[in-house]
Amino acid sequence: MILTYNLKHGNDFSAELVKAKKIADFAIRTKSNTSKDVKHIGLKSAIANQILKKYRRRGIKKSSTVKLTIPGQSIMFDVQSKMAKIPCLGLELDCKYLPAFLKIRQVEIGKDLAHLSVEMPEPVICGTTRFIGVDCNTTGHCAVVAVPHTGKIHKLGRHALHIHKKYKSIRRKLQKQGRYQLLRQMKSRERNIIQNLNHCISKKLVQIAISEKSGIRFEKLKGIRYNKKQHHSFRYSINSWSYFQLQKFTEYKARMCGIEVAHIAPAYTSQTCSKCGSLGDRDKKRFQCVKCGHADHADVNAAFNIGKPVSHCAVDYAINSMSRLHKERDLCKGSTDTPLSQSGYQTATPEMLATVEPLTL
Ligand SMILES: [Zn+2]
Repeated sequence: MILTYNLKHGNDFSAELVKAKKIADFAIRTKSNTSKDVKHIGLKSAIANQILKKYRRRGIKKSSTVKLTIPGQSIMFDVQSKMAKIPCLGLELDCKYLPAFLKIRQVEIGKDLAHLSVEMPEPVICGTTRFIGVDCNTTGHCAVVAVPHTGKIHKLGRHALHIHKKYKSIRRKLQKQGRYQLLRQMKSRERNIIQNLNHCISKKLVQIAISEKSGIRFEKLKGIRYNKKQHHSFRYSINSWSYFQLQKFTEYKARMCGIEVAHIAPAYTSQTCSKCGSLGDRDKKRFQCVKCGHADHADVNAAFNIGKPVSHCAVDYAINSMSRLHKERDLCKGSTDTPLSQSGYQTATPEMLATVEPLTL
């Protein structure tokens, strides 16, 4: 698994960055392949080669902010002092606050930040039959977490809707006024705020999963293909994009802690009663079961449905759809190799075992 960390480098590389921009423009113009052609610009050939490689690709027509790219073999890492040395730029980066990694793949240097891509050790994912269910919503809290084996509920991301509404009105206003540059700035600011929020929520989700000793189960998002690259004509809304990002962030954070992440088909999770499994009435945020009279907040009910132990046919269905959908196949192995049996539900309460009946899919 490769992760990227941003570090402040505290040096002034503006002269080198200007040269890098020149090389990138040269690469776009001429599709040149050798650093000899750009020797006169005066950037170190190891860096020049990387920039040429990146910008000579087909389809790149314009360079905006060009970073100095240093390949892994040009970086020396001192294990004792935890310093990464880049001799060709005379730069040292302090890595003592980074988690243990195997090696540095690449460093990209911008105006203020150095982006370190490091290879992390791959922890073993422990297969589990216990899951916490996460329901993602457009209204109310953006993630509602239910822990079926303890009955606990966590509500996360209360401010997401507020942020979304605030920026929507700002965007609309700027669009009307024709202030497109500011509009772009506002869009990226909103994106940054949501990204930050998603980092916080995903971190919290993993913490909950660790303390409950269980995996994390999400609802599969509609219109998102998990196994293939998205077609460029498909533009998902800011909401689906933000949930997709939340799932991706949670996936890699969980993977680092050896926690399994699963996706379940969203068939009836919001209309089914989490207590008895029959279909109920949903009115906005209220859920009422017709059969057993169980009443709950609709998002909480859905989260319990996502997290609770599912019946055999539903498990098969979930596993099938998972292996079809999951990008990281190795992630699924833990669950597909060990067929779930009734005895796997040792931790479930008798009440829950009663809910283990085939779902109508
Ligand atoms: Zn019911």
